[in-house]
Amino acid sequence: MADDPSTPLPDIHDVPGIRDAPGAISDTSAIDAPGAPPHDLLRARLLEGLPAEALLTDPQVTAAYATDMASFCAAGAPAAVVLPRTVEQVQHVLRTATALRVPVVPQGARTGLSGAANASDGCIVLSLVKMDRILEINSIDRIAVVEPGVVNAVLSRAVAEQSLYYPPDPSSWEQCTIGGNIGTASGGLCCVKYGVTAEYVLGLDVVLADGRLLRTGRRTAKGVAGYDLTRLFVGSEGSLGVVVRAVLALRPAPPRQLALAAEFPSAAAACEAVCAVMEAGYTPSLLELMDRTTVRAVNALGKMGLPETTEALLLAAFDTPDAPARLAAVGELCTAAGATAVVPADDEAESELLLQARRMSLTALEELRPATMIDDVCVPRSRLAEMLDGTAAIARTHDLLIGVCAHAGDGNTHPVVCFDPADEDEARRARQSFDEIMALGLALGGTITGEHGVGVLKKEWLARELGPVGMEMQRAVKQAFDPLGLLNPGKLF
Ligand SMILES: Cc1cc2nc3c(=O)[nH]c(=O)nc-3n(C[C@H](O)[C@H](O)[C@H](O)COP(=O)(O)OP(=O)(O)OC[C@H]3O[C@@H](n4cnc5c(N)ncnc54)[C@H](O)[C@@H]3O)c2cc1C
Repeated sequence: MADDPSTPLPDIHDVPGIRDAPGAISDTSAIDAPGAPPHDLLRARLLEGLPAEALLTDPQVTAAYATDMASFCAAGAPAAVVLPRTVEQVQHVLRTATALRVPVVPQGARTGLSGAANASDGCIVLSLVKMDRILEINSIDRIAVVEPGVVNAVLSRAVAEQSLYYPPDPSSWEQCTIGGNIGTASGGLCCVKYGVTAEYVLGLDVVLADGRLLRTGRRTAKGVAGYDLTRLFVGSEGSLGVVVRAVLALRPAPPRQLALAAEFPSAAAACEAVCAVMEAGYTPSLLELMDRTTVRAVNALGKMGLPETTEALLLAAFDTPDAPARLAAVGELCTAAGATAVVPADDEAESELLLQARRMSLTALEELRPATMIDDVCVPRSRLAEMLDGTAAIARTHDLLIGVCAHAGDGNTHPVVCFDPADEDEARRARQSFDEIMALGLALGGTITGEHGVGVLKKEWLARELGPVGMEMQRAVKQAFDPLGLLNPGKLF
């Protein structure tokens, strides 16, 4: 059984390593590595198997690799940043790290929102962004074989040229990498129909902490030999091994989607529509929600012309040949749930604009106040209205601005707590509300993270969700793969 979520929560100022603002680095005691070797020795040993241009050690340069995009997460100063181009180079880095007992932090594009890619003091940051080749696209086997640094949108466009489709599409898809998507088990806008990253990872090549190369999974349509180690690596946040190659499942490209936007007088009414759509048996290719604060923020940032008087905007789309008929039926369900306006997009181009507005949501909300904390609570979709109403109540109680966008069809909400860290009391209330939102999610049968991961941001909460036996087994897995605790220390646990 999970710990009692009503246990008193840590104050923001009691949490070690809270950063004052994104980019600033403060107390790193939570993730420091013990007994770091001299930098000269580390540099010399790394250069035995790396070209000079693959190694960065100037502290002013390496500092730029210290954090991902999460606010308020501890980060340390890396001893070195390595940008390998080959599997052998990655193996050399891991062997060196094991020999010298230096922690290694794998990184993709650092768009993560939980601090999972943050450096620890004295670590080697292993940035995989230069291993960015698409090795194979096979339309008979319907797979792509890629290196970890391939950017999600680059892969999507490449497979589309062969009438294929790689569905997982985080809103950050123009920047984030497949390695990072695997590291965080990321989701996106299309998950309501197509599922998350885990559903598309068939096999992996992984360099283990001691430098050995492990091949997991398959490139076949089926395969059940042994434990599913592939799935184990998905969402492991770089804590079990370094992904150097991935076999990904592809689908035939569907028709371009057609969308509608429905305006609601309350978030609860929009959630009622979500439930009605699912209960009626429809599986839209997208079912997203933006509250009033989000709509206004997106308009302010992108001049998108969304309706600002609405309390909640629901976007629905279908990518089937009969999309117009299905959208009409969904529109009727929205009206029955209380929608004040249902506006179908004129064509695919206008539908894409609606998607762009939704993709902009987190960035737009971040512009509202000097700092934000982005939550990622996922609840059964039947409890979505309670989640949104509860979040609004938390905002009122703490007198805070909390904008919500949500992958509504998945029950995955992103309440964004907006505040000024210079105002000590407001910062304390922000942390309190952030934690209360997670407690609410757990109380509704949900999870503290639907797609952004645990990282540093939520590690105090993992035990509350998993309970003591769950935590024991998680630690046993970590011990089996990384007995010296060198891979991405201080994350998850
Ligand atoms: C504006 C914005 C919108 C976003 N929208 C979404 C969204 O819709 N859905 C969603 O799920 N996320 C979203 N995110 C979060 C983020 O983009 C995802 O978590 C993404 O998968 C991170 O990819 P990355 O390449 O930036 O990885 P990083 O942030 O660099 O790393 C993420 C994790 O993966 C590990 N890792 C990276 N590469 C490897 C590797 N080769 N081997 C082993 N471990 C590795 C890292 O150690 C770290 O733990 C959003 C972020 C932003 C800024």
